[in-house]
Amino acid sequence: MHEFTPEVETLAKKILDYSLERLQKDPPLDGPKSPEELYFLVGETITKAGLGGENVLKLFTDVLAKACISTDHPRYLAFIPSAPSEYANLFDLVVGASALYGGSWLEGAGAVFAENQALRWISNLAGMPISAGGVFVSGGTIGNLSALVVARAEARKKYKEVDRWVIATSEEAHASIASAAHVMDCDVLKVAPDQDLKLRGRNIKSAIEEFQEKNPKSKVFAVVATAGSTNLGIVDELHSVAKACKALDLWFHVDGAYGLAALCAPSVRSLFNGVEDADSLIVDPHKWLFAPYDACALIYKNPTLAKEVHLQKAGYLDTLDDDGEFNPSDYAIHLTRRARGLPFWFSLASHGTDTYAASMEETIRVARVAADLIRKHPNLELLVEPELSIVAFIRKGWSREDYQSWSDQLLKDQIGFVTPSSHQNKPILRFAIVNPWTKVSDIEEILGTL
Ligand SMILES: *Cc1c(COP(=O)(O)O)cnc(C)c1O
Repeated sequence: MHEFTPEVETLAKKILDYSLERLQKDPPLDGPKSPEELYFLVGETITKAGLGGENVLKLFTDVLAKACISTDHPRYLAFIPSAPSEYANLFDLVVGASALYGGSWLEGAGAVFAENQALRWISNLAGMPISAGGVFVSGGTIGNLSALVVARAEARKKYKEVDRWVIATSEEAHASIASAAHVMDCDVLKVAPDQDLKLRGRNIKSAIEEFQEKNPKSKVFAVVATAGSTNLGIVDELHSVAKACKALDLWFHVDGAYGLAALCAPSVRSLFNGVEDADSLIVDPHKWLFAPYDACALIYKNPTLAKEVHLQKAGYLDTLDDDGEFNPSDYAIHLTRRARGLPFWFSLASHGTDTYAASMEETIRVARVAADLIRKHPNLELLVEPELSIVAFIRKGWSREDYQSWSDQLLKDQIGFVTPSSHQNKPILRFAIVNPWTKVSDIEEILGTL
């Protein structure tokens, strides 16, 4: 369409200037607008003649970008925020500029090599064997689904006459497990965790045994433990769940989309004991490992099993599989893929793993201080001691509507973004702290409005 004309060069400078400015300054929180408002401000952007790069860039920077909440703002504490390092974000520009294909060794060897070193760091932290490996997929949802599809394929080798396949997990598990089950046309056995909300080996073992007794035509094929629940940050007791899986001969998957990032934080590492026995695990670097969207590390203890299931076969693809080289496409539900692990790799390789551990510890420290401040706050009640970096609490005397209107006002005043959640059907608030630039003073500012 265009060569790199002087006009393109001018646009390039503007785009780079905007990107640098966005990276350098603390962004405003911003917030959504209605489709009508946006249409009023932007109008029709897809036209026969095109609006020209500079005009469209202006529409983006002046209007559209401002209608998106800055998920890396230090007082964005809702859901799970993002906190990409400058290095990771800058390298994302390089990935975008480089037309890298991350699906096969033939096309992307250099990129795949680098991604695999980053994956190796995670699998080493988890204590998985040297044969472990996997791929960066778009997010935890696809990571969980891809792993569970492999788990079922393994079970199908062993059990022939099964009416319904079943995934066993905790009531506290992430919604993506139910979503995977839905896609796979499986059922979910939801097991009540202990009082402290942790799933343990004995709960899961007795629940599965009881279930199998009552449902002889169904077969549980995998157990999903959560290493850092999204709502409260609680880590299931992985070592006892691992033992139960061994006893029952079941695939053990660890969903650590949020929490397994803290494998690199010495102060909490012991919470993850037993993760080394996982058949598969996931962790999202776009959550708590300072990478931009979208990147989930999916790691299998035995990647060969994943390839048996996920390799797409076609005449035009055969050449890729000839030499037994490592093709990332073969390990999840996808074919074409962006080398999305590279921004994470670049930042990790540049800063070193010590910096990652220190940044992680800082977020954990701020979460602990936040919990103390909440404990001392006359209107608030801490729900549970934070295990990782999620701090959940109650505002005494508030209805669901009070929570929502407080949250709306907080964003409107551009103070912070904290959305109500619920626990056991009661409204709660939670701070998810994954950003090392979130200071105690940021927490104090928000608590001051409660
Ligand atoms: C966020 C999350 C997921 C889903 O990950 P996406 O990247 O949003 O698809 C799954 N499990 C847990 C525990 C999570 O926190």
